[in-house]
Amino acid sequence: MRSLFFLRLLDFFFPLHCGICGREDFFSLKIGLCKRCANATRTFEPAYRCNICSSPLSNSSDVCGFCDSRNVFFTRVFSLRDRNDLLGELLNKLKSNNEYPVSIFLSLGIRRTLRELKTLNMDACILLPSYSNGKIFNSDLRPFSPSSRLYEETRRILKIPLIDPLMKTSSERQAGKSFSERFFHAYSAWEIKPNWKDRCPSKILLLDDVFTTGASVNEACRILKKNGTKSVYVLTYLRVSD
Ligand SMILES: [Zn+2]
Ligand SMILES: [Zn+2]
Repeated sequence: MRSLFFLRLLDFFFPLHCGICGREDFFSLKIGLCKRCANATRTFEPAYRCNICSSPLSNSSDVCGFCDSRNVFFTRVFSLRDRNDLLGELLNKLKSNNEYPVSIFLSLGIRRTLRELKTLNMDACILLPSYSNGKIFNSDLRPFSPSSRLYEETRRILKIPLIDPLMKTSSERQAGKSFSERFFHAYSAWEIKPNWKDRCPSKILLLDDVFTTGASVNEACRILKKNGTKSVYVLTYLRVSD
């Protein structure tokens, strides 16, 4: 009775309706989605994953064909979930209107991953500046970065600074581009800021909302490594795995 009262009180201050269907239950209060929707986001857990990008593998080879066939500049990708349609929809919701329940749900499991990362002694983290000239925190258009919850948890658990050594050289977005266009486009998407030239920290954790082709991330990592970084780990909410 008392705990129910407490939950009602919490709900009064922080009403948490399901980020998908808007219903409210015990689950939506705790994890941002109702029980039915949370179950619907479940993905099949594969037996094997690529040692670098963590994409599902059908056999026990260490590295997927994709990572094996190109120059990979990141050390390892940690994604909290494999993307499916419903999770993709959730991420879009998060991007379009900073939905708190959705950000809670998409971040589930992050603490366990960050504790694993803690043993690697990261020096700093960066948010990949996906939009205009790194104005992630104060853009009028979009006052919120979808990865900001990743950053909040990272700061809390790893206690590492957020640095901003990259700037985007092109305002074109990746969205809507074909697979090959993404690779072509990514090649010149970033530049190192003058004050970070040859001075990037040794171990960097790069935060982004979704790991898709890895083209932008890979290019960002290449530039960081060219400027002093030894290893880059990547943490995202979702990984596209098909
Ligand atoms: Zn729901
Ligand atoms: Zn791979």
